[in-house]
Amino acid sequence: MRELIMAYQGEMALKGLNRVTFENTLVKNLRFRLKSAGDFKIYKAQSTLYIEPENEYADMQAAYERTAKTFGLAALSRAAVCEKTLESICETAVAYLEEQLREAATFKVVCRRADKSFPLTSMELAREVGAAVLSHFHHLKVDVHHPALTVFCEVRDFAAYVHADKTPGAGGLPVSTSGKAALMLSGGIDSPVAAYMMAKRGLNLMAVHFASPPYTSPRAQMKVEELAQQLAVYTGGMALLAVPFTKTQEAIRDNAPPPLFTVLMRRSMMRITSTLGQKYGCEGIITGESLAQVASQTLRAIACTDAAQELPVLRPLIGMDKTEIVDIARRIGTFETSIEPYEDCCTIFTPPHPKTKPSLQEIEKAEAGMDLALLEAEAAENAQRIMINL
Ligand code: ATP
Ligand code: MG
Repeated sequence: MRELIMAYQGEMALKGLNRVTFENTLVKNLRFRLKSAGDFKIYKAQSTLYIEPENEYADMQAAYERTAKTFGLAALSRAAVCEKTLESICETAVAYLEEQLREAATFKVVCRRADKSFPLTSMELAREVGAAVLSHFHHLKVDVHHPALTVFCEVRDFAAYVHADKTPGAGGLPVSTSGKAALMLSGGIDSPVAAYMMAKRGLNLMAVHFASPPYTSPRAQMKVEELAQQLAVYTGGMALLAVPFTKTQEAIRDNAPPPLFTVLMRRSMMRITSTLGQKYGCEGIITGESLAQVASQTLRAIACTDAAQELPVLRPLIGMDKTEIVDIARRIGTFETSIEPYEDCCTIFTPPHPKTKPSLQEIEKAEAGMDLALLEAEAAENAQRIMINL
């Protein structure tokens, strides 16, 4: 029996003239992601992508799991392909869904007839397929309102397709269709979630991580590489720039009024991220900040950080509670790594009483007394580029 994956487009189906670009990017992303699962033919028709194995070595299960994590798809299902005849559709439904029909107590049949030259209407076809199913599985009852299993039969241009209930896709828009942004990636819980959320809106990501050895350990950076690797199933992989931040951070510690230390450090991180971002074609910066979570995330502190550089800063978690963020972290599989206890550069040298309502004026005054530009340029220059592949 010929089997393939049918993947249904989400929000992008609503795009007007850009739609073809979105579809082409989605196909390209899928081709790239499915490479390691074997040889698949991927083609599109009627807002659906067909992912068909080209030989017996292609791993359908792996392809299905990867497709389910690819942004731009609302739903997907494995389906059997058959001839566009009543006999063939009935036989295929009974054989292909045998196991699921055996286990279900109730079912219904839903048919769609995109090919209007097919001699039966959708209703007539559903009735015939329902009768065929009932004649093979005597325990089954029809329940049109809350069936345990729905049998879908779709008569389309090239063939008919039979499948059970669809499973939800990852939603969002294909990665890259919204451009590229620099993700500030710490080893914490929040920033990997922010990465997932913005990749979902179609952004291609480049991660920037600040490390301050010997205050932060090599293990802390390895943890960040591990997080970037876990995100790769959603982002398709990315470059990770590890920035040596020790000298800059020490200069701020030694020359700034302690209550302003954190905001000054964050401005410095923003400027370096901006420099690197622009070097590699990023049009925005992403952080995992959430309003009032810590002293540096009050509105006043955020205003000061925002003023440090020109790229737009995206903060997808700004209105979320920690429990909501943790739920997503668990779902996307980054939580366990995030809670490993390694020092982040943001948690060293922190003053006992950080100012929660700094003014830009006092921040700029403090910065004027330090010569950070050179140190920041040097940090950006010496960033180590690590490729995180899918
Ligand atoms: P997270 O769980 O992401 O670490 P957090 O609540 O600990 O968040 P902060 O440490 O204040 O918050 O950091 C806020 C944001 O700043 C992070 O979400 C991340 O985007 C960025 N950030 C913090 N530390 C680093 C770092 N070492 N390298 C790059 N970005 C960082
Ligand atoms: Mg952190």
